Amino acid sequence: IDFGFKTVPRQQKEALVGQVFSNVASSYDIMNDLMSGGLHRLWKHRLVETLAPFAGMQHLDVAGGTGDVAFRVLRAIQTAEQIDRQLPQQPQQWQAHQAQQQAGQQQQEQHQQQQGAVTVFDINAEMLEVGKQRARARGLTTGLSWVQGNAEQLPFPDACMDSYTVAFGIRNVTDRHAALCEAHRVLRRGGRLLCLEFSQVSLPLLRQVYDAYSFNVIPKIGGLVAHDEASYQYLVESIRQFPDQESWADQIRDAGFRAVTHENLTGGVVAIHSGFKL
Ligand code: SAM
Repeated sequence: IDFGFKTVPRQQKEALVGQVFSNVASSYDIMNDLMSGGLHRLWKHRLVETLAPFAGMQHLDVAGGTGDVAFRVLRAIQTAEQIDRQLPQQPQQWQAHQAQQQAGQQQQEQHQQQQGAVTVFDINAEMLEVGKQRARARGLTTGLSWVQGNAEQLPFPDACMDSYTVAFGIRNVTDRHAALCEAHRVLRRGGRLLCLEFSQVSLPLLRQVYDAYSFNVIPKIGGLVAHDEASYQYLVESIRQFPDQESWADQIRDAGFRAVTHENLTGGVVAIHSGFKL
């Protein structure tokens, strides 16, 4: 199968993307480490740091795959909730806090109401299945839900989410404008979209090295480790096709987001775009 975009009609892209991720699901996480030299962990760390999760946050991670970003967000929410329980921030809350501690049951109910939750959303059942197994292995049993579907049509009501992330996923979506409009719809006013995606390297030397690495080395690693060179060839080509930082920011604005900014990481190999629903 030739995964090159130029030879694939638009209507077939979704099926091909589905096939690619079904093929790579079981080796996806190890391949991420191998291909990026572990850098994807730093990039995702920065994404979650930028998001600054808070207690009670309702978060949606689209194209969430095997749950890597979702697990980090959930842990950060739970840490924030633990801190909130132990240390009320406002002096006037101390009295209420002490009363709550005496009324154990009542306090428990209140904390349950405040609990944040993360939804992992992905089109691919195999990726979600690997994610569920990883969550079980990590003991992440509460606060996570898994939903299968297309980012272009989210099965969630309007204004139900505080935040939305999409990491290394939006470039695989056929109608990105529809996906961004859906992101805008499900966010509450003040809610934030963060998109981590491969981008355009502007430094000429770094660009040459990066191009040589991605076109020659990544498909070979994919062939050796995942026994699927073609899928990794597709992934590399999809990176090349993705708009540059400024064009992507414009497309985010076109979907209604405001205060749109971006941060380049590793010289623009990836960028985090941020936008608010205001
Ligand atoms: N976000 C995860 C991470 O960073 O590790 C997974 C990224 S993986 C490169 C891309 C994911 O996008 C795959 O799991 C794929 O199934 C998903 N995907 C592709 N097209 C999609 C769509 N239209 N709607 C939802 N998910 C999609």
